[in-house]
Amino acid sequence: MNDFPRCWVEIDIRAFEQNLNRVRELTPSANVMAVIKADAYGHGMMLAAKQLETADEFAVTSIEDVEKLHACGVDKPLTLLSSTFDKAALEYFSQQSIRPVIYDYEQLAVVSELSAGAELDLWVKVDTGMGRLGFDADELLMVCKRLQSSEGVGSISLMTHLANADVPTDARNERQISAFRSLIFSANENGIFFKQVSMLNSAGVVGLHHAAFDIVRPGVMLYGISPTVGVSAQKLGLKPVMSLKSKVISVRRMAAGSSIGYGGTYTLDADSRIAYIACGYGDGYPRHAPNGTTVSVNGFLVPLVGRVSMDMIAVDIGELPVQVGDIAVLWGEENPIEEIALSAGTIAYELTCGVTRRVKRRIVGENGT
Ligand SMILES: *Cc1c(COP(=O)(O)O)cnc(C)c1O
Repeated sequence: MNDFPRCWVEIDIRAFEQNLNRVRELTPSANVMAVIKADAYGHGMMLAAKQLETADEFAVTSIEDVEKLHACGVDKPLTLLSSTFDKAALEYFSQQSIRPVIYDYEQLAVVSELSAGAELDLWVKVDTGMGRLGFDADELLMVCKRLQSSEGVGSISLMTHLANADVPTDARNERQISAFRSLIFSANENGIFFKQVSMLNSAGVVGLHHAAFDIVRPGVMLYGISPTVGVSAQKLGLKPVMSLKSKVISVRRMAAGSSIGYGGTYTLDADSRIAYIACGYGDGYPRHAPNGTTVSVNGFLVPLVGRVSMDMIAVDIGELPVQVGDIAVLWGEENPIEEIALSAGTIAYELTCGVTRRVKRRIVGENGT
């Protein structure tokens, strides 16, 4: 009955291993904390956890994610990147070897309530220029001293996050890196030693691997998406995990002067053929994709014309051999998601996270399929 879905994503599970191998090649001395938050950027958290089982650790952002991973038997060290918690949650973390990230004084107060023997391993996050979560650089020493004297604390690790790593030549990256290095140095001078130190996201792994420290935190590149502005995934040796696919549901010959879709934002200047594809913003295709955004239909790259509707888009196929039932690749290896995102004024992260629930998932790459 449902062999003919209107729109689906394909998840190529073989790509995970290739992408993780690229991380290992780029930062060979560092361990890898695979970031699988946001349902693995829309790819499916449990599936990603299974395919990335050779990663050293995983990072998520909610206790619900932790519980799901544990329920499925994942026993790797887990880091909770950005979450509030109470004392009971911390006790659970310490029993389960889950490391929370401590980034403010409210969390610090809860940590200090822990009794001796809890041996909670945790991360401290310091803000070296991201302007998001974290302690100020000049607070770090005092915070670490407080943690070190809290009886429930086991080990302390240190992380920071880069704000501009997607442009590796941006001078602010080296400023963050040297600020981070001097913080580590002065902590060590003051008798504070970190179990692990971590700085790099995917873009850092690609462009700033001299700052790999003990463990890197790639997310997007594990899904085969380029983290670096203006550099393709293919060039970086990454293979896209997700493709968004659909089918042609109608082909019409239209006369010059016809306008296409809501608002009539595109008018044909010559007679042509228009193919309608069953994928729209109701599936997660970006509504702001303009005329000219590339769609691959039956292997041909053709331009989107007219506004994106909830359930369909239109493309100008001219006299190309395209007919009803042909497959369209909205994004995937033959039609890179980075370019679709650029065209629509967004980033690939938002596109994969935004695939909606009605879109069916097909796993490819299992048993050679
Ligand atoms: C999401 C996130 C990452 C991963 O970032 P990518 O750009 O997807 O590699 C790493 N560290 C932190 C703190 C994050 O929030």
